[in-house]
Amino acid sequence: MSDAERVVVVGTGPAAAAAAVVLSEAGQEPLLLEAGSGSAGLGLTARVRGLTFAKVRPALARRSDLTMTGDPKAELFEELAPGGLSNHWACAVPRFSPDDFDDATRAGVEYSWPLGYAELAPWYDRIEPLLHIAGPAADVPRLPAGRLKDRWSLAPEWEAVAREVSTSGRDLIAMPYAYGSETILTRSATAFNAYTRLIKPILQRGGLSLRFDTRAQTLEWSNTERRVVAVHCRDVGTGARLRIPCRAVVLAAGAVNSAQILLESTSGEFPEGLGNRHGVLGRYLHDHPLAKVFVELGRRVSLAPASYLTRSSLAGSDPLYAAACMQWNSASHMARTLLSGHPGLTSRLGFSLFGTMIPSREDQIAIDRRAPSSDTRSPLLFSLRYPQRCVQELERAKDDLLAGLERAGWAPRLKVFHVEVPGNSVHYGGTCRMHESPRFGVVDAFSRVHGAPNVIVADSSVFTTGPEKNPVLTAMALAARASDRLARDLRAFAV
Ligand SMILES: Cc1cc2nc3c(=O)[nH]c(=O)nc-3n(C[C@H](O)[C@H](O)[C@H](O)COP(=O)(O)OP(=O)(O)OC[C@H]3O[C@@H](n4cnc5c(N)ncnc54)[C@H](O)[C@@H]3O)c2cc1C
Repeated sequence: MSDAERVVVVGTGPAAAAAAVVLSEAGQEPLLLEAGSGSAGLGLTARVRGLTFAKVRPALARRSDLTMTGDPKAELFEELAPGGLSNHWACAVPRFSPDDFDDATRAGVEYSWPLGYAELAPWYDRIEPLLHIAGPAADVPRLPAGRLKDRWSLAPEWEAVAREVSTSGRDLIAMPYAYGSETILTRSATAFNAYTRLIKPILQRGGLSLRFDTRAQTLEWSNTERRVVAVHCRDVGTGARLRIPCRAVVLAAGAVNSAQILLESTSGEFPEGLGNRHGVLGRYLHDHPLAKVFVELGRRVSLAPASYLTRSSLAGSDPLYAAACMQWNSASHMARTLLSGHPGLTSRLGFSLFGTMIPSREDQIAIDRRAPSSDTRSPLLFSLRYPQRCVQELERAKDDLLAGLERAGWAPRLKVFHVEVPGNSVHYGGTCRMHESPRFGVVDAFSRVHGAPNVIVADSSVFTTGPEKNPVLTAMALAARASDRLARDLRAFAV
């Protein structure tokens, strides 16, 4: 395949991996560009039947070339390494539910996704087997069951809590996790690193090629061909500029970097950035408002599998406001139960509470034209703020959790309730949002950039809204669906 016939995929994180799997199966042999070096992001994970005994991982990098224009305390993290942020993630993989799409629709046209759960479900089915998921086998209203490798249910004593929380319209079930029950020893910092688990095997069998140390900077729009014809890059090691011709591009550089590449891709046709005719690109940035809860109990209970308290019903919540509670179950928590002489049993529970924010046009990334630019990328203006309403929703989830534990006779004492600063969930999305109309979105229902259909955006930047669920599984399902459509369009010479 000549260079100009190639699909170029930017990134090697989970979204890029899903795209690479589907494109290489379709015979496209994509070329992947990774800004990080081949040796970056290495770590160690040792796990026996789902219980992690050792974990070594690199520190998470905070992006510093930012001017805060929203909450001055907001944070932006990234990992420029093979596998991206899957070097750090906790591997929780809940599906979005039909309610998550209905919730967006009831909030009005600005927030409506151009697809629903029915269109996405076959793509969850396609991706989940790659993730070796252990999780609950049955659907509950706000969490559809996925395609599992191993079934998990909560230990019997948790049933009393599940009964009690159902009175507040919530369900309590086991959280689905990638590689949740596996026995593994890997040089990755997590059980599932997207590069190690998915991209490297395809690379080894010759189904794709990959350039490390290659930072994509802009996409070249051809006015005559009416499409993007090349990716302009910088060799991070030598500083050399590269022009890589292509037939199509899949942007999977993460929700901030993908939007930045499009914003920097200016031309006579797109003076404000590729696909940005209506000034939407970079806007509607969202992250999950996050609170940490720590409780002591009047008894010991099973630590694993970790529990998940779902959001409340649509009838019991305002449009686009929700929060769910995800129990912690790390190597250190398990080690503490061993040291206490009660292996696997704990009288202390910790939870991360992920809430939602209504995406706003004011929360955004934009290129900071006033700041001096480096050779590699421009500094950003960064605005992310949580309305007070988010905190109320997190408090409501915490109260429902504590009431359920209390009524089940677990005598909980709240020790910590702490709301983190914006950006701390590292679940960024929305900057290239998906919408039927270019007035409200950057990409269409197949993640193709409005006005430049040989470019698809594969990561969570396409999320129209940010349901309270962890984003990776849905980003991968959307990436797979969009890549399948791209491969069919390329075969039909439609793009
Ligand atoms: C501590 C922690 C725990 C988490 N736990 C979970 C969880 O349990 N479940 C969940 O769903 N999510 C979780 N997340 C979030 C999850 O890790 C991210 O949402 C996910 O990795 C995003 O995937 P991505 O492919 O879109 O982007 P990334 O993972 O950010 O990957 C982007 C890739 O693009 C590359 N890149 C960036 N810019 C360029 C460029 N210009 N040119 C070339 N390459 C470029 C990067 O090097 C990287 O390889 C967690 C995150 C953190 C930090």
